[in-house]
Amino acid sequence: MLKQLGVLDRIARHSGPNETFLVRASDGDILMNIALGQFDVPALCTRRSDLLAGLLAELPPERIKLGHELTGLEQTARGVRLSFARGASAEHDAVIGADGIRSLVRTQLFGKIKPVYRGYTVWRGVANYGGGAVPAGLNSETWGRGHRFGILNTGHDRFTWYATANGAEHRADSSQGRQAELVRMFADWHEPVPDLIAATPADEILKNPAYDLPPLRRWGSGRVTLLGDAAHPCTPNLGQGGCMALEDALVLAKCFSRAASIEGALRRYESMRRPRTRHIQKRSLLMGTIGQWENRVVVAGRETVTSLLPARLFEHNLRRLYAYQS
Ligand SMILES: Cc1cc2nc3c(=O)[nH]c(=O)nc-3n(C[C@H](O)[C@H](O)[C@H](O)COP(=O)(O)OP(=O)(O)OC[C@H]3O[C@@H](n4cnc5c(N)ncnc54)[C@H](O)[C@@H]3O)c2cc1C
Repeated sequence: MLKQLGVLDRIARHSGPNETFLVRASDGDILMNIALGQFDVPALCTRRSDLLAGLLAELPPERIKLGHELTGLEQTARGVRLSFARGASAEHDAVIGADGIRSLVRTQLFGKIKPVYRGYTVWRGVANYGGGAVPAGLNSETWGRGHRFGILNTGHDRFTWYATANGAEHRADSSQGRQAELVRMFADWHEPVPDLIAATPADEILKNPAYDLPPLRRWGSGRVTLLGDAAHPCTPNLGQGGCMALEDALVLAKCFSRAASIEGALRRYESMRRPRTRHIQKRSLLMGTIGQWENRVVVAGRETVTSLLPARLFEHNLRRLYAYQS
């Protein structure tokens, strides 16, 4: 327990609190103000690099072996044999495939399953932006026609933002570059949207097509299981993909500490995690579909309905999402 608090404290120092979430229209009007309130442990917005650094600091360095690209695996009578590029191999009691949305471990278990493109591109950046333009604890997503812009306050005047646009799966950057394209796309949106894009180092803006998979019926077999995006890739509309991977790890560790056999632990973990991850995958897909609507009349209707709906409905749903206890 003390160790866990150490990790949390370390990560919290580099994070921003997540207390209030605004849904806004592109002119800045607030359509919904969702008060998340307090949880047993704080809900935080943190950068992936700070999260990883906080977790890594807890592990002896020799536990992590970099530079090993998995090329195949085979279950044997005693465990699982792994093959790596450049000829290395290893045998272990069990294997947890946490190798992302295009998981090779998943392919080895169930054959190739191609991620599904959901019709929009997502750009991300981190801007250093002072002046208290966004109060601490306040995060937001702004809806336009076929575009969205999210602002997450990760503390210390750093803001992670994301922007979306409908279009083809492999969208080329414009000839003026990614940043100029985004500045143009969001030029008439409310402040600080254009400023945040402009304040981001141009070569650090990431671009990804939005992919996921329909929930898988099976995650594992024998002494092999999947974790994170390998098991339940999700569109990024609820900010839960990485969070679910962390939850998976915690539940898996608990299952190992309680089960009599390795296979028993893995199957128990899969059955405990499937309902929640399936729910989030479906909910996130739906949020993305609604958020990316671009027909003028439909978008006007969405704004009206959102501003009339009671925020407590969303508060209830989001609190349930964040207050997960394994
Ligand atoms: C635009 C966007 C925004 C997002 N925003 C959020 C957010 O706000 N909050 C949130 O919680 N999540 C968010 N996510 C989701 C989050 O990034 C993923 O859910 C998370 O990274 C999944 O972690 P993972 O460890 O399962 O997979 P990954 O992070 O994909 O890691 C897989 C690792 O496996 C390695 N690997 C792959 N194949 C092999 C192989 N053959 N051999 C060896 N290594 C291999 C890869 O190099 C990689 O290091 C977002 C995703 C996107 C695309």
